[in-house]
Amino acid sequence: MLQASEARPTVNQTQTDVLILGAGLTGGLLALWLKTFRPQASVRVLETLPGPAHYPERTWSFHGSDLEFEPTDNWIRSLPGLKSWQGYSVRFPHLGERHFGGSYHSFSSDALNHLLASQKVEVRWGATVKTVEADHVDLTSGEKLAASVIVDTRNNSPSNPSAIRGGFQKFVGLRLELEQSHGLKSPVIMDACCEQKDGYRFFYLLPTSEKELLIEDTYYSDTSELDVNSICSEIRKSVSERGWKIRKELKIESGVLPVPFSSPVRKSTHPNELSFGVGAGFYHPVTAYSFAWVARFLRALEGVEHLSRPDFDRVLQRLKSDHKRTVWFYTFMNRMLFLAVSPTLRYQLLEKFHSLPEGLVQRFYASKTNFLDRLQILATRPALNYTQLARFFLWAPKNHRRIE
Ligand SMILES: Cc1cc2nc3c(=O)[nH]c(=O)nc-3n(C[C@H](O)[C@H](O)[C@H](O)COP(=O)(O)OP(=O)(O)OC[C@H]3O[C@@H](n4cnc5c(N)ncnc54)[C@H](O)[C@@H]3O)c2cc1C
Repeated sequence: MLQASEARPTVNQTQTDVLILGAGLTGGLLALWLKTFRPQASVRVLETLPGPAHYPERTWSFHGSDLEFEPTDNWIRSLPGLKSWQGYSVRFPHLGERHFGGSYHSFSSDALNHLLASQKVEVRWGATVKTVEADHVDLTSGEKLAASVIVDTRNNSPSNPSAIRGGFQKFVGLRLELEQSHGLKSPVIMDACCEQKDGYRFFYLLPTSEKELLIEDTYYSDTSELDVNSICSEIRKSVSERGWKIRKELKIESGVLPVPFSSPVRKSTHPNELSFGVGAGFYHPVTAYSFAWVARFLRALEGVEHLSRPDFDRVLQRLKSDHKRTVWFYTFMNRMLFLAVSPTLRYQLLEKFHSLPEGLVQRFYASKTNFLDRLQILATRPALNYTQLARFFLWAPKNHRRIE
């Protein structure tokens, strides 16, 4: 007779069409997209967190120009809970305030979890995936689950052994209710008119109603340490300097995101892998934002008639080559930002960049920078000295710290 520890794992014979690993931004939106555009397919999501309330507070913003006019893009624009603004601005010491046209949008983790529940997406919370094979996954509970297609969107898959090195974009954000109107009509995505310390520093202001806003204190820093309490104090100080009074602190969110010096897209760990999301390296290397890439992924799925593994694989291979086409330039920009200018002068690079033509700036955020854009960006040289130039040109993966 088998002892408990030798007991064979149970095989769940119910074949699912698409099994999604991870219920974050990528996994959650993919499941909702499939519910809408492929309603006949059986879809199941496995998530290690015990419940939706455990998913960290996140506000996912993106530019209207990250989207196109395909059915998927229209679906994203009409997602319940999506907040939209017409235009946004940046503020720099010499440039002053510059307004950009086009729309700006924001979606929250609360809205995502609400939609997953209201659309009755089958999410199994508390299901930790241990290993992934082509046609099934093993959970840490010992259970095996079979599926025709398995899309891995977990964010803690083993990273590329060839190493991702670079700096960090770290921030703390407070969602606030103020005593009075803040007077902001649209988001200020970079307000660099503040003390420059710990690298390039700016405030991000996202007005969500007349008296409510999200305010983030952000640093493009050489280190990943984030002192949440002291940054919260900095935010409160900045709020008071802006002449506002806090009535209530509603929520807090924070992040330490990689700003890599080489492509973050990691190599597959097994031949049958179908991975997407931040864990697989699909994000904008300079902003560390991934929403635009998730939108591209879903748009590309429109052309997939049968939900088969080879079809998904073709889509992912195409996205990998799209990412590769632009990633080298953005990682080059990161090396300029972190190695070619001194930390407190980093803001000058971003200031010059945001003085460039509006179309160029939009294409940059959408990872669609073209050849002429590159020339113009390169022409906005930062103030360099010989030591910094040497650091920049002698950069090699092995002599710079690794992002864990
Ligand atoms: C605070 C914050 C704000 C951000 N803001 C923006 C923004 O404004 N715009 C933008 O484009 N990007 C933003 N990003 C970057 C990026 O879009 C987010 O990190 C986004 O959540 C990434 O989505 P994802 O689905 O790839 O990973 P995640 O959302 O992290 O989802 C992965 C999921 O996999 C689950 N998981 C992990 N291991 C297992 C396992 N073994 N078994 C089962 N499940 C598992 C995790 O619990 C998690 O829920 C932000 C990031 C942070 C941290």
